[in-house]
Amino acid sequence: MRSIAIINQKGGVGKTTTAVNMAAALAEAGQRVCVMDLDPQSHASLHLGVTLGENDLSIYDVLTGDASLADVRRKVSERLSIVPAHLNLAAAEMELAGEVGREVILRDKLARDLQDEAGSAFDFLIVDCPPSLGVLTLNALTSVDEVFLPLQPHFLALHGLSKLLRTIEIVASRLNPTLRLTGVVLCMFESATRLASEVSSDVEDFFKRPAHANSVWSKAQMFTTRIRRNIRLAEAPSFGQSILEYAPQSHGAEDYRQLAREMLGVSATNSGKTTATASGMGVGSA
Ligand code: ADP
Ligand code: MG
Repeated sequence: MRSIAIINQKGGVGKTTTAVNMAAALAEAGQRVCVMDLDPQSHASLHLGVTLGENDLSIYDVLTGDASLADVRRKVSERLSIVPAHLNLAAAEMELAGEVGREVILRDKLARDLQDEAGSAFDFLIVDCPPSLGVLTLNALTSVDEVFLPLQPHFLALHGLSKLLRTIEIVASRLNPTLRLTGVVLCMFESATRLASEVSSDVEDFFKRPAHANSVWSKAQMFTTRIRRNIRLAEAPSFGQSILEYAPQSHGAEDYRQLAREMLGVSATNSGKTTATASGMGVGSA
């Protein structure tokens, strides 16, 4: 199973939109996918049509109580499931403050609960994180192998990146040696603007800088798929549907399908060339 946390401590960069729609596109491509909502705002849950009542179990009960992930997980469609969140998750941060080993609660539960008799029940686990580097995000970082970073091509896109990379590095060295930043996704891309292309080349340059071979981002792939700004992507959450259901022909749906193909290493063009590379960065224009 590939396990990926979608992280950026800034809000509004496209984390949830990417977590949900990438997951839906992977499921459409035949993969078994579990989304985990680790944000108290519960946007990923709402986006996939799951609204919890006061008494419904959620990821909060997994982190602070005895609930297993299987107790909480819900099926959204044939190959797509979600471990939903509720606003009460905001209290978890405080409640866990005095707990020994609070950063690895999720990891321990995952090791037990996402398996079935045949091994892993999913091909992908995709964790949507809150816009902070607190205990919830740390639980994601200790539980997954990969981090994807969504960036908005904005002049401050790279601002705060060193703090994020340092956090990943510390978690990798102390708690999760397999953790790597493996993907950078440009979201809300406006191809017509000079700013977008300038920022994308800055981002490319940043990740192309010779990195220490063991650095947590030395294998980062900047996806050639850019997620264009598309109003349908902003509308879909209020219908409780992924973009693939809400507007299957839209640019948003096209882009997330393309991203899923790139992640799976499937030919992205009709030329039969594979654009996703197993190592290093597939850098190109979109
Ligand atoms: P985050 O989870 O990082 O806070 P979101 O995914 O919630 O960010 O995106 C922030 C807002 O921008 C949401 O209202 C979302 O619907 C919208 N949005 C995200 N990606 C796009 C896009 N490619 N085109 C248009 N709107 C988008
Ligand atoms: Mg979000």
